[in-house]
Amino acid sequence: MTAPILDVVSLDVRYGQSQALFGVSLSVAPGTVLAVLGANGAGKSTLARAVSGLVRPAAGTVTFDGRDISRLPAHRVRKLGLTYIPEGRGIFPGLSVIDNLRMAVAQERRADRPQAIDRAIERFPVLGDRRTQRAGSLSGGEQQMLALARALAESPKLVIADEMSLGLAPLVTESVFEGLEAARQEGITIVLSEQFVHRALAMADHCVILTRGQVGWSGPAAEAGQEVIDRYLGEAEAPPPTPAPAAVTAGPP
Ligand code: ATP
Repeated sequence: MTAPILDVVSLDVRYGQSQALFGVSLSVAPGTVLAVLGANGAGKSTLARAVSGLVRPAAGTVTFDGRDISRLPAHRVRKLGLTYIPEGRGIFPGLSVIDNLRMAVAQERRADRPQAIDRAIERFPVLGDRRTQRAGSLSGGEQQMLALARALAESPKLVIADEMSLGLAPLVTESVFEGLEAARQEGITIVLSEQFVHRALAMADHCVILTRGQVGWSGPAAEAGQEVIDRYLGEAEAPPPTPAPAAVTAGPP
C-alpha cells in the first residue's frame, strides 16, 4: 500500500472552552480525492484549518508528505505543498485577476513566474479574457476559478477546497468541479468539503462524514449510499429529483 500523503491521527481542536473536533483520524492516498461531508457546524472548516496550520490542534498529529506538520504555521505548511482554498474564496478582490495570479506565484523563481501564470490561464481561459478586471467584480463562479487557479499556480501536492460551490448556480458549480477534476488529472490530491453531497461523492474516491466534531462514517465514496447520507447528513441534502412523469392528457388531442 502506498504511504498516505496526508495522515490525521486523533485530532482534537478547541476554540477556547468549546471543543470543535474530537479525536478525528483520516488518511488520504496520493492522487486521490477525499470528500469531507457533514451538516452545518459539524467541523469541516475546522478540520481544514487545523490541517493547513491556521488553527493549532489541542491534541493529535497531522502528517503531510511524511512530515509532522501539526505545529507548523500556515505559511510553512503552504510552502510544503498543501494549499487551502478557504470558504469565501481567498482572493484579493481589490486587485486585478493578473495581480492575483502574480501574488500566487511570488514564491516561484523569478524566471519561472510568467510560465506559471500562463499555465494558470490555460487551465481557466475565462481568466485570460478578464486579466485586467478587478477580481471583486468577477461573477461568483469566475472568482472561484481564480481561487482555484491561484491555488494550482503554487504547484501544490494537495489542495483543500472548502465549500467551493457555496452560493453558486448548479451550472457554475459544474465548471468548478471540472477545474478540480483537471487538478486531479495532474496528480494533485484533493480534499473537498461540499454542500452538493451527491456531486462531491461522484468525484471522490473516499468519504469522511463528520457529525458533531467526530468521524461518524468513513469509507469508499461509492459505498456512501442514500442510507448513509440520510443517516449521517439528515437534511443536509435531499436526493436528486426524479424527473416528473410525462403529463397524461385525457381525451382526444
Ligand atoms: P459550515 O458548513 O457551517 O461551515 P463546518 O462543518 O465547517 O460548518 P465549523 O465551521 O468547523 O463547521 O464549526 C465547527 C464548530 O466550531 C461549530 O460549533 C462552530 O460554532 C465552532 N466554531 C467555528 N469557528 C469558531 C471560532 N472561530 N470560534 C469559536 N467557535 C468556532
